[in-house]
Amino acid sequence: MKITSATFVMSNSQVALCPKDRLAEYAFIGRSNVGKSSLINMLTQRKSLAKTSGRPGKTQLINHFIINKKWFLVDLPGYGYARVSKKSKKTFQKFITSYFEEREQLVNAFVLIDIRHEPQKIDLEFMEWLGTHQIPFSIVFTKADKLKPIEIETNVTNYITQMTESIWEEAPKHFITSSSKGIGRDDLLNYIDEINRNIS
Ligand code: GDP
Repeated sequence: MKITSATFVMSNSQVALCPKDRLAEYAFIGRSNVGKSSLINMLTQRKSLAKTSGRPGKTQLINHFIINKKWFLVDLPGYGYARVSKKSKKTFQKFITSYFEEREQLVNAFVLIDIRHEPQKIDLEFMEWLGTHQIPFSIVFTKADKLKPIEIETNVTNYITQMTESIWEEAPKHFITSSSKGIGRDDLLNYIDEINRNIS
């Protein structure tokens, strides 16, 4: 898919105030600092469409962008930032769960995982929650340029194996990306394009 336009629409803290258009919507979410803003900028080839986070945990809003006047790309707040208070963690959880429960236009969630790390409880639990709520998702491994090919293979296999050995019958679809090297861009955009074609 060629990106011909990518425009910021709005930021919100309430699902009810998100755009009313019934366009297919794709959400991007992951731990703070996972590389979400960089990935969104790489996908859209816009230098600073998504703000790369100066201070993780600060941008707690749902950000809508419209791509090719056809689909929404949604930048959700990063989770798992240790320095936010318990109260704000709860508020955050409520707000994210409402987004996933209420947003009918949502077609797929892309859950970002830093390819260098061992599977983390917070990510596994989040994907389990998506699964129990029947929300389609795929994994996007980020920062692949930081590892050698053999290490990428080992880490990805380890991650997927842990998932299928615990609760998942099938391995979720996954992508390997690097925003600094542009790796995985075509795969991700083609995947979105294919879904858009099937549902239009
Ligand atoms: P966010 O908090 O998830 O939006 O993460 P950012 O996109 O702001 O990235 C967090 C840090 O990781 C920044 O220092 C980025 O430069 C770095 N980063 C993000 N993506 C990549 C990547 O693909 N490769 C490398 N080497 N660094 C990356």
